[in-house]
Amino acid sequence: MTEKKNTLILKPTKENIEKAAKIIRDGGLVAFPTETVYGLGADAMNADAVGRIYEAKGRPSDNPMIVHISRASDIGQLTRMLSPQIVEIIDNFWPGPLTIVVKKRPEVPDRTTGGLDTVAVRLPDNEIAQALISASCCPIAAPSANLSGGPSPTRAKDVIADMMGRVDAIIEGDDCRVGIESTVLDLSGEEPTILRPGIITAEAIEAALGREVKYDASLTEAAQHVQLDPANGVDEADFQPKSPGMKYKHYAPKAEMLIVEGERNKVKSEIERLKTMNEKLGNSVGVILFEEKAFLEAAHDFFARLRDLDSEGVDMILAGALSDSDGVGFAVMNRMLKSAGYNIVKV
Ligand code: AMP
Ligand code: MG
Repeated sequence: MTEKKNTLILKPTKENIEKAAKIIRDGGLVAFPTETVYGLGADAMNADAVGRIYEAKGRPSDNPMIVHISRASDIGQLTRMLSPQIVEIIDNFWPGPLTIVVKKRPEVPDRTTGGLDTVAVRLPDNEIAQALISASCCPIAAPSANLSGGPSPTRAKDVIADMMGRVDAIIEGDDCRVGIESTVLDLSGEEPTILRPGIITAEAIEAALGREVKYDASLTEAAQHVQLDPANGVDEADFQPKSPGMKYKHYAPKAEMLIVEGERNKVKSEIERLKTMNEKLGNSVGVILFEEKAFLEAAHDFFARLRDLDSEGVDMILAGALSDSDGVGFAVMNRMLKSAGYNIVKV
């Protein structure tokens, strides 16, 4: 980052949305709320503007972005290929927390798609996001509005903490309803494949399409990793993710983090035991233990809890694993595992 920007903090009034839209049209950066997490937006068709997103986040430039639109009919600006499968998904799930990956038009800059010949597209259901995109008169590329590597921002104050001085404006909306990022569904090939789990589950997508939906191999391996038992001699080094992205630090809090997995009562007592021991040895410990089966609540609170514990300055976070093999809990576990750098013990 070279130059420090004078960041405007805008309440979501009609006038301010117009002001923010003008910033987007002029190639600037605006952070805004969506129902999933806060996004950091720029004109998706302007390669220079998109380049500024990577700079502001400190994000590797081969990591493609999700392009946000405000009307389903705008998808025609991004792709020419609307198969029956794509139409069915749009009909069932838009607006909402589901992103689809489709073949891109040549007009979509490589900078936006990380050089891929596909583009990720979403129509958010958040009113402020829709108003901003619509007033900007262009699709908006927007990754999460956090510094690369840290927990995603689900509250305006999280965005302000990470992005003051780095972006032109931040629209201050409510806390995000969902709290984890959208499900990413690849519809660019023959077989619909989930690249990132979210609150729209494989089961819901299968019901809409009337066919089986696969998980990307990296997710399956991550899921299997939950089952690995270090006590049985399975070593961390045996886990070799195929997708390079999984090796990068992602969603990580400043504190050290450990996940405890197993039967609920055992998890509770192991967390209590480790907490007491660590505190005796001079470390401050934060605990994340969600109500059993309250998966939507866990999704809503998870990133906010990580950020709050970091604000408190704890040394260590102990988190209870969620038991859900393919639903919303699985999507939260995907984030929890990455936050903890796959640091997990089984009891
Ligand atoms: P974020 O911008 O942080 O919400 O992350 C966007 C996610 O969508 C990342 O996991 C990307 O790898 C994924 N993504 C975006 N565009 C594509 C694409 N064209 N093909 C596959 N994955 C994509
Ligand atoms: Mg992100």
